[in-house]
Amino acid sequence: MRVEKEKMEKLLAQIPPAPDDVLEWIQQDCVQKSYILYSEKEHKAVCTRCGNTFDIDKGMYAGKAGYSDMCYCCYEAYGVLKPIGRSRGNLSEYFRVLILVNDGPTIWGTLWRIEANFEKAGQPAIYRKLTTIYRLNSEVQERYELKESWSDCYWEMYSNVIVKSSCNSWWLGSKYDRLFVYTNNLEEVFKTSDARYLWDPVGDCMIDEWNIVGYLGQALKYKSLELLYKSGFKAIALGRAAGSKSNAIYWRGRTLEKILRLPRADIRRIRKRNPTAEQVRVYQRLTPEERRTIPWEAVKDIASDHYWFDKTYRERICECGADFIKTLKYLDAQEGTEFGNKRRDWLDYMKQAKELGMDIYRNTIRYPENLQEAHDAVMAEWTDKKNEINDRKIRERIVVKEFHKDGLKIIAADSQRMLNEESAQLCHCVKTYGSKLADGKCMIFFIRREEEPDKSYYTLETTVEGKKVQCRGLKNCSTNEEVDRFVEAFLQHLDKAIKEKEKLCKAS
Ligand SMILES: [Zn+2]
Repeated sequence: MRVEKEKMEKLLAQIPPAPDDVLEWIQQDCVQKSYILYSEKEHKAVCTRCGNTFDIDKGMYAGKAGYSDMCYCCYEAYGVLKPIGRSRGNLSEYFRVLILVNDGPTIWGTLWRIEANFEKAGQPAIYRKLTTIYRLNSEVQERYELKESWSDCYWEMYSNVIVKSSCNSWWLGSKYDRLFVYTNNLEEVFKTSDARYLWDPVGDCMIDEWNIVGYLGQALKYKSLELLYKSGFKAIALGRAAGSKSNAIYWRGRTLEKILRLPRADIRRIRKRNPTAEQVRVYQRLTPEERRTIPWEAVKDIASDHYWFDKTYRERICECGADFIKTLKYLDAQEGTEFGNKRRDWLDYMKQAKELGMDIYRNTIRYPENLQEAHDAVMAEWTDKKNEINDRKIRERIVVKEFHKDGLKIIAADSQRMLNEESAQLCHCVKTYGSKLADGKCMIFFIRREEEPDKSYYTLETTVEGKKVQCRGLKNCSTNEEVDRFVEAFLQHLDKAIKEKEKLCKAS
């Protein structure tokens, strides 16, 4: 909503002045860059950090422009050396500062765009521009934003109290993405305004520069935030301040039971966990009996796993014929770092155990003493079984088993084990061709020397129609003439064999 000019002027006049030391704070704590501007001719240098001038020896900084040196006055910072009067036109630094002040119950926040300019010798000149005003008390929480275009300039009022992440205009880009909050007066501002109950001397996470006005705005609007924060549900209160609007929480509630939609006994149980709103949602959906017994690690796992959220998570466990809570307790008791990993391992284990025909309804199988070991054993057995099935398919598809010519021979790959050995000897990747081979998508042959029948020499891949795809030796090396001639002869033989097999198939 656009605010009329007169109304805005009145509002601006109401804002109390900023504390006296704000400018000093900006120069000391916000400005990051520091220069030592020097003149060789006058044997003088000036530090932009402290503003003091000091003498330099002749030639001390000769040829050192761009290097850093310690200021000989304040000894506080290293400054980049820059000769005075040369190339300082673009030496500026940009950021934003947020200052909070109050007059009685109302807190006024002012957000400024700052340019620190190092053009003149001495401390940087600070240029500022007011861009946002916050007006916060228990009745009103408002944000006023300055809108500028080349033809117009006015203020707009909003009801959501936030700090916009950047400057929101393409021509400023991310120039102003640093934000500083003036904190010297914060305790006093909190304690003498409507926010007096919100001050938390140890709640350092609350004084996050990006969320402090959000927290004030939300907490002054909803009494629930203060109640949540003070009763130990800080994560939920701060989550809301950071903009999370979970509907698991009834923000207009007046009592913890109403706000968290849980009975008092359950609230007492989870308070020490400092749960997030998502964790509370998981907890809300459990039966009272389940809430009493579920391990907290499981609640965290369910809440963090959006893909599985709640019902699906439960369903996947119950699909294995297992009791939900009993399984979660079992997983919690297992060794292992993350609950989520244990949960995934157990589900994999159950799936493969079932495929292997194991009785997954028996407790000793469903809940093995050491899940990790049982998982690995079942995984190994399952892989063996899969290989066995593949091996059978591979053998059924073989057209030519062996072929000999001129001191070389060929044998057809007939198992995953053979592929593994060939891969190991020749350092190539034929072992990954098992499924392709089993599914009839290629043919693999091993070329050997007659006098060294056990030593891998070359590996040949053809299409199922008998066309050569590749022939590789040690570390994928290519073939020599002898092998080429041999392969050519073999391919002719293979072609005949394939055609004969086709004829046979048609006849039967
Ligand atoms: Zn200095």
